[in-house]
Amino acid sequence: MTFRSHLMPTVNPLGHSTQWPDIRHNELYIGGLPLSRLAAQMSQTPFYAYDRPLIAQRIAELRRLLPAGIQLHYALKANPMPALVNFIAPLVDGFDVASHQEMLVAINGGKAASEISFAGPGKTRREIEAAVAAGIIINAESFAQIDQAARAGVELGIAPRIAVRLNPEFELKSSGMRMTGGAKPFGIDTEQFPELIEKMRGLDLEPEGLHLYTGSQNLNPAAICEAQQAVVNLVCELIKRFTLRLRFINIGGGFGIPYFPGESPLDLTSVADQLYRLQKQTQQASPKTALVLELGRYLVGEAGIYVCKVLERKRSRGTVYLITDGGLHHHLANSGNFGQVLRKNYPILIGNRAEGEEKEQVTVVGPLCTPLDILAEKVILPKAQPGDWVVIRQSGAYGLTASPQQFLGHPPATEVLIG
Ligand SMILES: *Cc1c(COP(=O)(O)O)cnc(C)c1O
Repeated sequence: MTFRSHLMPTVNPLGHSTQWPDIRHNELYIGGLPLSRLAAQMSQTPFYAYDRPLIAQRIAELRRLLPAGIQLHYALKANPMPALVNFIAPLVDGFDVASHQEMLVAINGGKAASEISFAGPGKTRREIEAAVAAGIIINAESFAQIDQAARAGVELGIAPRIAVRLNPEFELKSSGMRMTGGAKPFGIDTEQFPELIEKMRGLDLEPEGLHLYTGSQNLNPAAICEAQQAVVNLVCELIKRFTLRLRFINIGGGFGIPYFPGESPLDLTSVADQLYRLQKQTQQASPKTALVLELGRYLVGEAGIYVCKVLERKRSRGTVYLITDGGLHHHLANSGNFGQVLRKNYPILIGNRAEGEEKEQVTVVGPLCTPLDILAEKVILPKAQPGDWVVIRQSGAYGLTASPQQFLGHPPATEVLIG
């Protein structure tokens, strides 16, 4: 692995290279600002910075590629920073939330309640009541959630809005995380749908939508196409068999981003082509039903960096360690402990010596007393000194809120939206 591979340019879905990373005179620029200026503004390390123009550009590229009627939702779990959610609100058609706190961030972001849906296999009675009161869509994942929503509706004198999350028999192949097929805590097995719809109708409830989320972090367009086709075939069959009048079908997403050496950006051309056909197929079965894509990391992951500072250089039996003030307590995913089977390095650079002439192999670690606290292992970087900035790219999703920030009690990281 060479330093070059860490400077691999981000490529948009149409295959054009973007201006990122932006390196001028050996220094990383983000949002048009030199890193040193941004670091001075933040006044402390570690911090996360998210670039507004990169997020807007990613969403605009996606819109250009997709059929016009496809609705685009943002899954807040990827990055629920309120300022970022507010920025994304006017750029997408809806938000998907998975807790009461995320629901409030979504409402504060200014989306209409009818464009916010609430998924999650465990919802408390109070969360369900709050969702019914807010008028957001509850993605019901069990018979019990239907009962609770019905009860909350009666108590509040409001008709609850319900979509049904289904667990079909098929799965999303070659996916970082699979969320359907076989036994799953998510959604209602399709075999149980007849019983479920009977129960709902007994309570005078109709599903407003169906939700099928097959998996995450997929870089294989053929696998995404196969799963989306299976979702639409299944849903069209259910529409016909049960005379469903659905406002939407959330067909999931799972669009991945390249994190590791050897991974290429997802080419969405074939996925977009197929979505034109799937939209037609859906409209033939149910003319008023919209297809919804729900994306998290694909919208924000590549627009964020994590910045920490080298505290020390240390040599141990032939290995040079760069010891930094940042680590898995802020960025668990980068350390390899958030669902990866084999640890691999995220793209990393020394922000103030981005093109340094003298290079060396180093292992970059955090301050925590655990061998798990690795930022990059055996990576070739320009020779860094204490006080230099280590920058981890692809850090806009599953960063701070996906990390055990209290572990060992080091200071928290801060976040900023720039550009
Ligand atoms: C996690 C999750 C997402 C977002 O996944 P990404 O890989 O970030 O796109 C979307 N929908 C559901 C139901 C999820 O659980």
